[in-house]
Amino acid sequence: MKVTVTGGAGFIGSHLVEELLARDYNVTVLDNLSTGSLKNLSSALKNPHFNFIEGSVLDEVLLSETLKGSETVFHLAASVGVRRIVDDPITTIRTNVVGTDTLLSVASKCGCRRVLVASSSEVYGKSFGTPFSEEDDLLFGATHKSRWSYGISKALDEILALAYHSKNLLMTIIVRFFNIVGERQTGEYGMVLPRFIKQALSREPLTVYGNGEQVRTFCYVKDAVEALIRLSLCEQAYGKVVNLGSPYPIRIRELAELVKKTLSSSSEIRFIPYEDVYGVGFEDILYRVPDITLLKNLTGYTPQTPIDKIILRVASSQNPVE
Ligand code: UDP
Repeated sequence: MKVTVTGGAGFIGSHLVEELLARDYNVTVLDNLSTGSLKNLSSALKNPHFNFIEGSVLDEVLLSETLKGSETVFHLAASVGVRRIVDDPITTIRTNVVGTDTLLSVASKCGCRRVLVASSSEVYGKSFGTPFSEEDDLLFGATHKSRWSYGISKALDEILALAYHSKNLLMTIIVRFFNIVGERQTGEYGMVLPRFIKQALSREPLTVYGNGEQVRTFCYVKDAVEALIRLSLCEQAYGKVVNLGSPYPIRIRELAELVKKTLSSSSEIRFIPYEDVYGVGFEDILYRVPDITLLKNLTGYTPQTPIDKIILRVASSQNPVE
């Protein structure tokens, strides 16, 4: 079966591509290499069932050629990373909203049947208290805080993709990723785990933003890929919004301590005010934990890889000699 992965040269995309190829799919990737890299696809590029096309999801003509014959599309192309989003909300909105609009429109005309649209826990915004479940209200901050451009753009993508489903133009699933981590993730755009690991390995201070009490869950990328493929094969998942993440919460301060301990690092932990990193008025999300009951019910699968194991795997990929 032929599938297309937009954003397939990125962190999650490249792991998905490898697994799809291992399961004998014919895979085409469309990626503009803005944050992804061909290095991520080095093993896929040797596979005769793999095809790479460099270009943007905003390019309608290229997109029609790319999608021809694809039964399923995994739409992962997006502007990501808090650093990038805060710095460039214009690209964020254009890539995420116009890109998804173009993708859905072209896919529906090209005879694609199924589209999985990657969304994000960022859509829950700053709701607080209990694990987020798919029917919850979304709570965004003020529009002059550019961070919210990402969550709002993804919320719009979700509504659009669900409308394509309800109008029988395509079968769509929305997958809300919660802090996916693993080998090949770059810390360049702000992601905390690759940054802490790099800092710990080079004996630099681990930079905890704010007081470190903020809560996240970290899901191993190979677990996320397994869940994603199972969802794509699950008829009842179409037309739904599904959380995908690990259910085990950890505070960022505790994560810094765990990275230090797991890697036997002598780095200090340094607390840095948010304003020094992201400018005045930046709002962090203090609590972000998924309710993954729906994922479990649909796929029978729960991401399980423990965080210390993930830390070791990422560390050995960042620093293969140690
Ligand atoms: N964070 C941190 N130090 C860093 C990078 C991030 O303390 O060097 C914090 C960040 O403020 C947030 C959490 O770690 O509270 C997760 O950040 P990330 O950008 O990885 O993901 P997101 O904020 O989208 O959950």
